[in-house]
Amino acid sequence: MSKSTEEAPKEEEKAEKPEKVEKPAAKAEKKKKKEKGVYSLYRIENDKVVRLRPTCQRCGPGYFMADQGDRYTCGHCGFTQYKPAAEK
Ligand SMILES: [Zn+2]
Repeated sequence: MSKSTEEAPKEEEKAEKPEKVEKPAAKAEKKKKKEKGVYSLYRIENDKVVRLRPTCQRCGPGYFMADQGDRYTCGHCGFTQYKPAAEK
């Protein structure tokens, strides 16, 4: 008897979910994209944290510079640093 009482509420939830989930999902996707940039700045290699972006020379460590393709820019002070051509 306990089984049938457990299953009953589950079915009700399932029927409600599709409608409720759709709306928040669209908003969540946008938020996720922003968060992705934050943790993509780091990578763990051999138990060490490797920073994938250079820090701003003006603002000091803690301020990462954004990758703009051929250059890095600081969103805090606007400092722009061109990538060394030797990388190619
Ligand atoms: Zn800066």
